[in-house]
Amino acid sequence: MPRKSRAKDVRPRLERAAGSLHLRLGTEPDAPALTIEPGRYKRAADLAQRNGSVMSFRDAWTYKVRSQRGAGSYIVEDKAGLWTCDCPDWAALRPCVHILAILLQRGELPYPDAEEEPKPLEGAGFDWAAYRKAELAMPQVLPRLAFRLFEMLPQPPPRYGPGRPPVPQTDALLSALLWAANQKNMRREQDTRDRLLAEGLLSRHVACNVVSRTLTDEATMPLLEMALKLTREPFAAIDPDASPVTLAVVGDTFAIDSTGFTPSRRGHYNHEKHGPEAPIPWLKCHLMISTKARLITAARITANTGRGTGDSSQFRPLLEETAVKFPVGVVVGDGAYASRTNVALVRDLGAQPLFRPRDTSITKQHGAGGWADMIAFFTIHRAQFDALYHRRSLVESVNSAVKRRFGETLRSRTVTSRTNELLCKLVSYNLTVLVQHVHYLHAEEEWLDRIF
Ligand SMILES: [Zn+2]
Repeated sequence: MPRKSRAKDVRPRLERAAGSLHLRLGTEPDAPALTIEPGRYKRAADLAQRNGSVMSFRDAWTYKVRSQRGAGSYIVEDKAGLWTCDCPDWAALRPCVHILAILLQRGELPYPDAEEEPKPLEGAGFDWAAYRKAELAMPQVLPRLAFRLFEMLPQPPPRYGPGRPPVPQTDALLSALLWAANQKNMRREQDTRDRLLAEGLLSRHVACNVVSRTLTDEATMPLLEMALKLTREPFAAIDPDASPVTLAVVGDTFAIDSTGFTPSRRGHYNHEKHGPEAPIPWLKCHLMISTKARLITAARITANTGRGTGDSSQFRPLLEETAVKFPVGVVVGDGAYASRTNVALVRDLGAQPLFRPRDTSITKQHGAGGWADMIAFFTIHRAQFDALYHRRSLVESVNSAVKRRFGETLRSRTVTSRTNELLCKLVSYNLTVLVQHVHYLHAEEEWLDRIF
C-alpha cells in the first residue's frame, strides 16, 4: 500500500545539470533553482566542519553562523524554506556560504565529495504473504482471541437464587465487542452470536438486550480498560513464555496523538434531551502506540472539550502507562506536545523526546533539562530529526486503521456506552495487530494451537 506523506516536504532539493549545481529551497514544485558555485559549496563545507561554526540561536528557526574568517557571525533564518542571512553576500537567488553550511550540518545537503546514497524502497521486504494469511484467518481467530482475553478478567461472584442464571460476563463482553467491531445492526449481529453458540464459543444464547445492557453498564468500562492493557503484552498475556518476543516486536519508540470519534446519528434521544440545535458531543481518543508494532500501548478516552481533554494534559498518563510495561527509548509527538514539562517527563525515563517545536518555541531551558538539547537536535541535525520524527505519522495510520476497520462513528447513545463501544474497537484493533504479528513471525500454527 503506498503511504501518503501528509507532512509538507520542505527539504531542499539539489539538482545537478550540465556540470552545474542547483538548489531548490522552497516548498513549491516550481521553487526557483538557485545556482551554487562550486567554490562556495567547498567553502561552506569547510565552515560546516569547523567546530561550533553553526549554532542554534533564540528559537527553532534562527541560527548564528560564524563568519569564514572567524571574526564575527551572521544571523540566518529559515522560515519554512524561506531563507535569509544578514551577510553582505546573501541575495534571494544566491544562497550564501552560511545557509549552505547550515544545510550541510543538518544533513540535508550532501558534502561536495560525498557519493549520493540510494534510498531504500519503502515497503520493500514486507511480508505480504503473511499479511494475507493473517487477514484470511481474522474472522475465525479474532472472536476466539477476544474470548480468551475476557476470560482472564476478574469474574463476578456466582449468583445463586431463583430465576435464570445471568449471561456469563465473558459471553456478554464478547457479544458487545463483536457488535462494536462488526458495524452490523443488533439483529444482523444475532446471526454471528448464534454461529458462535453453535461452534461452542458462547455458552448460551445472548439476546440483543444483553448486548446493549453490557455497553450501557458503567461497570463494563474498567473491564474493557483492563482488557486493553492485557492486549499490550499480547504474547505474554496469553502465553507467558513469549515475553522476549513481545519486546522485540514492540521496540522502544512510541508516538502519541489524538483523534475524534463522532456519534452516528442525531436521533430522537439527542434531539429530545438537548434540543435540535445542541452540538453532538463526540469523543476524543488519545493514543500512544509502538511505532514498530503499531500496537496501542496506552489509551485515554475523553470528551472533546473541557478540562483534561487537551492533548498535552493526557501526555503524562499515557507515557506512564506505556513505561510500566515497555522500556521507552524515543517518544515522538507533534507541536501540541512540545512543552518543557513533557520533555522533562521523557528525559526522566532516560528517553529521547522528539516533539516538533512550534514557531514560537524559545531555546531557553527554564529549568527543564533536555529542552535546549531537543531544539538543538531539531535545528542542527534536521535530517536525523526528520528521520525519527517521521515515525510520528504511524500513530495517524493507527488512528485511521481503527476507523477503517471498525468504523469511525459510534452508534451507542450515552457517553458511557459510546466510551465502551470505542474501547471495544481499540481492543479489537490490538487483537488484529497481534494476529498479524503472529503471522509475520510465522508462529501462527503452534501459537494459535496452544491458545484454542
Ligand atoms: Zn550569509
